[in-house]
Amino acid sequence: MSLKVIAFDADDTLWVNEPYFQETERKFCALLEDFLPHHTVSQELFKTEINNLSVYGYGVKGFMLSMIETALTVTDYNVRPEVIAKAIEYGKELLQKPIELLDGVQETLASLKDSYRLVVATKGDLLDQERKLKKSGLEHFFHHIEIMSDKKEADYLKLIKHLDIKPEEFMMIGNSIKSDVLPVLNIGGHAIHVPYHTTWLHEQIEHTLEHPNFRTAKHLNECVACITSL
Ligand SMILES: [Mg+2]
Repeated sequence: MSLKVIAFDADDTLWVNEPYFQETERKFCALLEDFLPHHTVSQELFKTEINNLSVYGYGVKGFMLSMIETALTVTDYNVRPEVIAKAIEYGKELLQKPIELLDGVQETLASLKDSYRLVVATKGDLLDQERKLKKSGLEHFFHHIEIMSDKKEADYLKLIKHLDIKPEEFMMIGNSIKSDVLPVLNIGGHAIHVPYHTTWLHEQIEHTLEHPNFRTAKHLNECVACITSL
């Protein structure tokens, strides 16, 4: 086994993220309940987010703009300005959420850091992810932080080239099969899936996966045993 670098996804792998977005979405849908039921607003918001992904990328700021656009379209431009103001306020609140580390994060990083180069590989807004990392108190574990505009095969190949390693020396650990596992396996790397109890619809995938370079772990602290058994 020639593993050199272990990269960690951040949101819902190292710390809580998706529940905060879901809470914001519920509050946003409630603002528009005079116009449409929650689930319809929620569907419209999701459609708008997906349409905007290629221009805004992932993260809170794009989400805020998509909330505003959704508020305008579902009300046929009859939305009260207070609703727009609230959407902006909710987004700003998201940018100030506390960092809640998931179980076993500190211990896992501590037990791997002397044997491997540890990296964070995450999507999202640059400033927001930097803020979260700083607040998390985990920065000192990592050799390199990569805030990626997307997590496709080409993005991982670029990262691997930057780290000056071969794909088989790279492992990704994360909660999304679609973003953290499949592209990494496809380029010849290793991956461990650590499922989180809730996943953004866009990251969900119907997939039964069997691959020699793939493992699944219930919690992050099971990863150490997975890696040692490789
Ligand atoms: Mg994640």
